[in-house]
Amino acid sequence: MEVHLLDNNKKEGKVSFLIEGSNPAFASLIRKTILDEVPTMAIEDVEFRKNSSILYDEILAHRLGLIPLKTDLKSYDLPENCKCEGAGCAKCTLKLTLKAKGPGIVYASEIESQDPKVVPVFPKLPIVKLMKGQSLEFEATAVLGKGKTHAKWSPGHCFFKYKPKIEVGKKVENPEDVAKVCPINVFDVKNNSISINKDNLLKCHLCGACTEVSSDIKLNESEDDFVFFIESWGQLSPKDMVCTALDIIKIKIDNLSKELK
Ligand code: SF4
Ligand SMILES: [Zn+2]
Repeated sequence: MEVHLLDNNKKEGKVSFLIEGSNPAFASLIRKTILDEVPTMAIEDVEFRKNSSILYDEILAHRLGLIPLKTDLKSYDLPENCKCEGAGCAKCTLKLTLKAKGPGIVYASEIESQDPKVVPVFPKLPIVKLMKGQSLEFEATAVLGKGKTHAKWSPGHCFFKYKPKIEVGKKVENPEDVAKVCPINVFDVKNNSISINKDNLLKCHLCGACTEVSSDIKLNESEDDFVFFIESWGQLSPKDMVCTALDIIKIKIDNLSKELK
């Protein structure tokens, strides 16, 4: 199996890479492990001291749970794996507080975290608008959790597609039309002859429009090669998402192997 990095956009937290010589089950295992098993921090409990805003406690608590928090996987354990057995200790829980008075919009940046490494990813995320005389005060508890329990713990978006395989025959009569119909310029035309633009080939999303224009274009999907796209919601870097998923897969396989022995 070979892996080639295609794009690494650190600013937007996006990565794409090509896995060659694998199979759909393995590609799916990586995807599902990233989405369901890689833990992140999110607010799980909120104790409201004051809330005279227009939003009910339940709605605010739901909004707070969905605020992505920068996650430090080295410093925290999942509550179920912690030595405290889920009772709650500094190794598995983190307190966050907020005190705000209207008028004005309360932003995520106003949340005070006991751990400077675990803070909202997007400081400008609005929580609620307070009118004059309204106030909001709460203490929240964040814990590590997994996307399979609730989407608020999902570290981001991950999907893959089969690598496109396109064959251009010698009898393409209308090269200009074929090139024009492709929305992402997979084809180059020179002197009325058509060829594949290798830089754009992996961007092909297998829509099939080119095969409708010319029967001499053959479109297939590779069963062994996959183009992966990973987009972080900001809690972890895409690299951490993939590496943590691979560690989790390895631990599961080691455990299975030990049990079988
Ligand atoms: S399948 Fe769609 S995206 Fe791919 S080369 Fe053909 S027209 Fe372009
Ligand atoms: Zn604990």
